[in-house]
Amino acid sequence: MDLASVDLSRLRHVGPKRLEALDKLGLDHVLDLITYYPRRYVYRGARADLSDLDVGDEAAVLARVDSSSARRTRQGRALVELSVSDGEESIRVNFFNQSWRFRQLPVGTRAIFYGTLSEYRGRRQMVNPTVDVVEGEVDEGSRRRTSGALAIYAGSARVGLSSWEMAGFVDEALRRAGSLSDPLPDEWRQEWGLLERTAAYWGIHQPADPEVASAARRRLVFDEFVRLQLLVALRRRRLRHRESGIAHPVAMDELGPDLREGDVGLLGQFLRGHPFRLTGSQQRVLEEIAADMASSVPMHRLVQGDVGSGKTLIATAAFVMALAGGRQGALMAPTEVLAEQLYGALVRDLSPLELVDEGVLGSRRPVRVALLSARVKARDRAGILAGLARGDVDIVVGTHSLLHEEVRFARLGLVVIDEQHRFGVEQRATLRDKGRRASKEDRDPDLLVMTATPIPRTAALAVFGDLDRSTIDELPPGRHPITTRWVRDPSGEAEVWARVRAEVEAGRRAYVICPLVEESDRAEATSAVAERTRLATGELAGLSVGLLHGQLSSAEKEEALSRFRSGEISVLVATVVVEVGVDVPDATVIVIEDAWRFGLAQLHQLRGRVGRGPHPSECYVLGSAPTAEAAERLDALERLSDGFALAEVDLSLRGEGTLLGARQRGRSDLRLGNLVRDAELLELAQRAAERIADTGLSAQGEWAGEIRTLIEPDEAEFLFRS
Ligand code: ADP
Ligand code: MG
Repeated sequence: MDLASVDLSRLRHVGPKRLEALDKLGLDHVLDLITYYPRRYVYRGARADLSDLDVGDEAAVLARVDSSSARRTRQGRALVELSVSDGEESIRVNFFNQSWRFRQLPVGTRAIFYGTLSEYRGRRQMVNPTVDVVEGEVDEGSRRRTSGALAIYAGSARVGLSSWEMAGFVDEALRRAGSLSDPLPDEWRQEWGLLERTAAYWGIHQPADPEVASAARRRLVFDEFVRLQLLVALRRRRLRHRESGIAHPVAMDELGPDLREGDVGLLGQFLRGHPFRLTGSQQRVLEEIAADMASSVPMHRLVQGDVGSGKTLIATAAFVMALAGGRQGALMAPTEVLAEQLYGALVRDLSPLELVDEGVLGSRRPVRVALLSARVKARDRAGILAGLARGDVDIVVGTHSLLHEEVRFARLGLVVIDEQHRFGVEQRATLRDKGRRASKEDRDPDLLVMTATPIPRTAALAVFGDLDRSTIDELPPGRHPITTRWVRDPSGEAEVWARVRAEVEAGRRAYVICPLVEESDRAEATSAVAERTRLATGELAGLSVGLLHGQLSSAEKEEALSRFRSGEISVLVATVVVEVGVDVPDATVIVIEDAWRFGLAQLHQLRGRVGRGPHPSECYVLGSAPTAEAAERLDALERLSDGFALAEVDLSLRGEGTLLGARQRGRSDLRLGNLVRDAELLELAQRAAERIADTGLSAQGEWAGEIRTLIEPDEAEFLFRS
């Protein structure tokens, strides 16, 4: 039976009113209901008699409301005061600022009160306990007698359903569903100590004891992870088993550090002519890329490297490998600012190289790099597009506008996406195909994805498991660690501005990042303009203070940045437009105002704008933190400089929703599983997924239906087509 097609109105006790309540919880089908997992349980054994409890005990008591009143305290807070008893003893229950409790709990109501027992003026009480209204006869209810626990469902009270009613609906849904088919073979289940699926669903909703609940959860989390991992494994396999890529003629020996003089190919010329010697990490990653590019299996690789680790140079060298074989390259950046900067770096690094001109025998021509940005005039744009289609523009740099229909290539060989986290998972998945379709080449271009957002290993496996991964784990030599200070109190700010002044006087530059304004880009720009005026006429009077925000035209942005780069402007007041990639090695101070408004990954990115050159750098984060979570973030930033360690903190603070992106947020999103806490199960699921993928299509077929709900129909079509 397809549980996703059985409407909840078919359940016995679900009339129009309850249907509406369930709908508010986002529950439409039987499958929704049985995957609406309890938040926690009150075990029968743990349900206490009031007389057994001591002050300070946390407990759940089943009690009846004997009296109730509502009033305001002298401080003006709403207070609902109940007296409840379990037949033997009575206590007071107080609710502050929950005046609706008066209507919810009239005299005579029976409910489970879950909280800590305290004492006030000699009377025992609970303050703001969690409440679950009990309807009907509890202990005599024949259904529930089999289960040792009452499941508490989050949000049910909000829509006017008691956990009790929810449990009743779920019970009926489970019984209607009967024995669910389990795609996991018995032997594997036993090997991995996992419950059978039907038992797991019963166990999570009606556990006899906590062990059952935890075993049930284990199986269901495993299933969530397996679906995700199987998807990843199938994507990867489809790519691996296709020899549809381009075998670039890569001169592996030219990668080595000790190359002889003489007749050296393009790659050797580039590496030897470049002012920097590759770091050991860069060398290793480049070798991994070279091996991929030389193979006829399409490259699909993620390069992770902390901010400032030198990813641009890697990308440039990869482009050189593509050029050496007569292919074209495309570089996609998340913002126009970054596209302009990358364009500048490529022009600078590639201008010394000469390509063999195919048209004219024996003649050579310089590498042609083009920028396709909003700033490019229509006429130039047409010229660039024609050049790409003819094959005499070698590399094009741009934003996601490169994905546009009209951009066509003659021989596209390599696509690089910089700072991938800014692009959705979605875009990455479709890019390869676009690349192929946009090219006269009937082979898949190689794909290199670069990110500075470090992704903890387990999470990366889940989300980027379809990409091979390389990591740059060292910074170029001569870098100093960035000193980070969280200045909580406004009184400390004078010192910060004094530091900015001192650095500027020593010939360096500073960024000031304005508070994030959520309403609109326009509001944010307005606040940046005001902040610049405030600083230029106040704390930073006398310094040349520039401005960079998202409402400026591309030309204005580029101008501000280039004046900052040259030193004409020494302080750049900016919004998060500078978040990624901007590379000005002389900038040594960054001040982030109202820092709590930024996410941890963003703060780390912002901090990475300094410390990119030979001088010691400083990062100041300003403002107090209004929540404990925000304080933890700023504290972590101050304490940790390693992006990977910060990413772990971030993941544990925020959960994985942000990593998974839109695509995986469907009905079968991770409801129970947690990529950090359940890391061990995730790894098990990875092994299982590999095994399922290995056993061939018939076994996958059983999972296919489950996976389909995770992805777009056209991708399902693509993956499950043999
Ligand atoms: P990111 O990895 O954040 O994109 P970039 O590629 O912008 O970092 O590099 C950061 C800075 O380090 C740049 O100024 C770049 O020129 C410099 N750099 C890159 N590789 C090396 C190297 N091997 N030796 C010295 N400096 C390097
Ligand atoms: Mg970069």
